[in-house]
Amino acid sequence: MPSIFSRIVAGEIPSYKVAEDDRHYAFLDINPLAEGHVLVIPKREVDYIFDLSDSEIADLTVFAKKVALALREAIPCRKVGMAVLGLEVPHAHIHLVPMQTEGDLDFRRPKLSPAPERMQQIAQSIADKFRS
Ligand code: AMP
Repeated sequence: MPSIFSRIVAGEIPSYKVAEDDRHYAFLDINPLAEGHVLVIPKREVDYIFDLSDSEIADLTVFAKKVALALREAIPCRKVGMAVLGLEVPHAHIHLVPMQTEGDLDFRRPKLSPAPERMQQIAQSIADKFRS
């Protein structure tokens, strides 16, 4: 049974896509910690991020960097925080969260639920700044 993220990559489940290449996909977290909270995944489904090969984790990180650069241009913030949890969805992913304070990266905080139109707007603004 493919993960929910593999089904997103396959287009079977909708997502607010911000960037993609042949091996990676980036989309908005549906319950963001802050507006612009993005998930970056390898298309190849692996649960635990440290089970990726050296080259896979390196390439995933470089792709995440490109997304973070676009994110910071689109959403004014002090820095883009990067975190890996993976306790909920068994498909390796990097969280990128625009931060003003360290509390913005506190995963115990109540999540936001922006309207679909707002999510679309945010995804498009990041996608517009993304350079491959
Ligand atoms: P974790 O596995 O603990 O890193 O958390 C998984 C993250 O994926 C959570 O922040 C969820 O809000 C997010 N998430 C779960 N399902 C979806 C989905 N269909 N689209 C976007 N984000 C999702």
